[in-house]
Amino acid sequence: MKSKELFERAIKTMPGGVNSPVRAFGAVGGQPVFIESAKGQYIYDVSGKEYIDYVGSWGPMILGHNDERVVEAVVKQMQKGISYGAPSELEVEMAELMIDMVPSLEMVRMVNSGTEAVMSAIRAARGFTGRDKIIKFEGCYHGHADALLVKAGSGVMTAGVPDSSGVPEGCAKDTLIAEYNNIQSVECLFDKNYNEIACVIVEPVAANMGLVLPKTGFLEGLRKLCDKNGALLIFDEVITGFRLGAQGAAGYYGIKPDLSTYGKIIGGGMPVGAYGGRKDIMSVVAPLGNVYQAGTLSGNPVAMCAGITQLKILKESPEIYTHLDNLGERFRQGVRALFKKYGKKVWVSGIGSLSCIYFTENEVCDYRTAKTSDTKTFAKYFLHMLDRGNYFGPSQFEAIFISAAHTMENIDKTLGDIEAYIDVNI
Ligand SMILES: *Cc1c(COP(=O)(O)O)cnc(C)c1O
Repeated sequence: MKSKELFERAIKTMPGGVNSPVRAFGAVGGQPVFIESAKGQYIYDVSGKEYIDYVGSWGPMILGHNDERVVEAVVKQMQKGISYGAPSELEVEMAELMIDMVPSLEMVRMVNSGTEAVMSAIRAARGFTGRDKIIKFEGCYHGHADALLVKAGSGVMTAGVPDSSGVPEGCAKDTLIAEYNNIQSVECLFDKNYNEIACVIVEPVAANMGLVLPKTGFLEGLRKLCDKNGALLIFDEVITGFRLGAQGAAGYYGIKPDLSTYGKIIGGGMPVGAYGGRKDIMSVVAPLGNVYQAGTLSGNPVAMCAGITQLKILKESPEIYTHLDNLGERFRQGVRALFKKYGKKVWVSGIGSLSCIYFTENEVCDYRTAKTSDTKTFAKYFLHMLDRGNYFGPSQFEAIFISAAHTMENIDKTLGDIEAYIDVNI
């Protein structure tokens, strides 16, 4: 009831009543739940209802909400100052930590969001190569910078608009679109735009059109094509970074990108992003080089404290990733078994703590096949699960996030609720 009242107030003062479209319930019907607090694997709405949270603030809360170690570090730093606008030791510590954890990183620059990280990495790639054109993949989301809102995933996909309005043609004309998992589509673009491609940007695991895994050889193929054509390979690890293991997707698949972008987990819940990679490339960034990129609050000490604390825990506790893998596997195998038991075909994809259930009989391997999912069925399923205290992203095309705070009992409870849904509806 309280959520309803808050939403009625919110829509009067904020577009759609939310500060980010992915929080809206347009795709599933109903109105968003307003959150009062969160702890561990649970979130609580303003009416006091508890939910097992499978969104985790869209990725950052990999340790669960309100981890005491992170909170303590933040509170301690707050008492020493919230922002300086001048260098602090924390920024050096953060850079050293990231470089120590991820083999392909030699230099990093902190920013305030994933959007900023990607936008800046692309600017650096263009500055370094002296080329304008970029290749991105249909259904991959890289934040809301103009040049990247072409055939994007996430909320753009849910809204059913392939491209955002308000993006001048000129801003998008150098963005070339390839198909995920289709290396020929990339090769073709390289051939047609000989010596003009600055970079290929990709989500090494596509987590913004549901959850689509790279097929064997796809990422290797991109690496080879980039090398052959003098283009840079950018891994957008805003979701996968420090989630698919301490080295992210690059480590998981054993591919070395030239640049990588980060966000979400590295802020521990604070607004943080970063981009980094080869030293020769990062040396084009101002004040060392001529590619301008700045930020009033970049490397903010409170945000650095949250991020450093979370990253250090991940670095020092490899068992967290084993736990996440086990939870993810239990969830996926459980869902597959349930639908099979009731003779209904769905496509369940996933890796480690990331999963997605598509209501389709097709194998999902790209944007086109992801779109074959029956979103009306998803909406029904979503509302059933919400009612029973399971909070998933309110869209078919968002990933399911599991945190280290989740337990096998949580997963089994959720599987029980899924079975109740199938039993009644199929
Ligand atoms: C979330 C996301 C972004 C954008 O990050 P923001 O912090 O929301 O600006 C970019 N790339 C990927 C892969 C993401 O998932």
